[in-house]
Amino acid sequence: MKKITDLDINNKKILIRCDFNVPLKDGKIIDDTRIKAALQTINYCLEQNAKIILFSHLGRIKEESDLKKNDLKVVATRLSELLNKEVLFINETRGKNLEQAISNMQPQDIILVQNTRYEDLEGKKESSNDKELGKYWASLGDYFINDAFGTIHRAHASNVGIATNMPEKSAIGFLIEKELNALSVLDHPTHPFVVVLGGAKVADKIGVIKNLVKKADKILIGGAMAFTFLKAKGLEIGSSLLDEENIPFCQNVLKDYAAKMILPVDTAVTKEYSDNEEYKVKDITALSKEEMGLDIGPKTIELFENILKEANTVIWNGPLGVYEFSKYKKGTDTILQYVVDNNIKTILGGGDIVAAASNANLKDKVYHSSTGGGATLEYLEGKELPGLVALQ
Ligand code: AMP
Repeated sequence: MKKITDLDINNKKILIRCDFNVPLKDGKIIDDTRIKAALQTINYCLEQNAKIILFSHLGRIKEESDLKKNDLKVVATRLSELLNKEVLFINETRGKNLEQAISNMQPQDIILVQNTRYEDLEGKKESSNDKELGKYWASLGDYFINDAFGTIHRAHASNVGIATNMPEKSAIGFLIEKELNALSVLDHPTHPFVVVLGGAKVADKIGVIKNLVKKADKILIGGAMAFTFLKAKGLEIGSSLLDEENIPFCQNVLKDYAAKMILPVDTAVTKEYSDNEEYKVKDITALSKEEMGLDIGPKTIELFENILKEANTVIWNGPLGVYEFSKYKKGTDTILQYVVDNNIKTILGGGDIVAAASNANLKDKVYHSSTGGGATLEYLEGKELPGLVALQ
């Protein structure tokens, strides 16, 4: 697989697939981490005097009313501020305006093309990797750089489509290189290797558990998913979130890997899913029917810390409680702080756990915080990533 530094891009038109899928509120960007994560590759192309044409998706486009909500122009404005340089936004994904703007480019000019998923409105052309679309986008440049780690597990026209139409002229950018380097630590982890899993649904993490349970020395389970495991053990879990369908899966894992699976021993319980109600800490065996567990308790924190203390490699996916509520973020924040303070090599696998670390100002203090939740999960499941296969 080629890297951006293997290409001679001087004065060339470089198509770069970025991941600018930033969270928006009332049309404003509320977290620009993903834009910042793309800067290294863009700055390198500027230094190399390339002509830079950027592509990204933003949100989902299912109907006409999704277009305005997911207009990529806000990203052009923020990117231009970060680079202190003009970024020409083309409000189209194809056609004469785009082609004309590209043919007028000078070295170091930057164009951002409108949201690639605008092409999904009719026939899901981007998301179903429409052949003609990938070929068309590939025809607009001399080289292609895929730097969108967040979509590497998807076969879309703007990543796989372009790459397969210019196989000798495609490479990965610095962000994907950095993500793959960090995740490759998990291919041959230094033991003890500890997996921390939290979040809401067991269903989303079955593949990860199946793939990692053999390799890991311990799997620490928190978050709502712990309650499905506890239910599988026959405990009363009150009104805690339950993934009923997956109780048999949990029973099997607990049967086959009893010593590896570490479940909470206490939990912060309340009667209402809100940040306003009072809560109590209870032993895991003491929940009543109307109580729900929204965070791990202090004894569980201690139990997890004692295991993490010995760990040489940690991968963590999913928060250990409802970190969005101030009352129930303690478990997640305390354990995050613990791995940072004790210099434990920890990889945060994207999505909510990275958001939690970011809120606690710990995102940049852990060994690696991945920018791609879904992509990291599929990597951890041991699946092939189509975006990478297309570049190999
Ligand atoms: P996931 O996308 O599966 O990683 O789930 C993340 C979500 O899990 C977050 O929005 C958390 O609020 C939620 N979560 C974590 N712990 C709990 C819990 N004990 N009860 C309900 N939701 C939880």
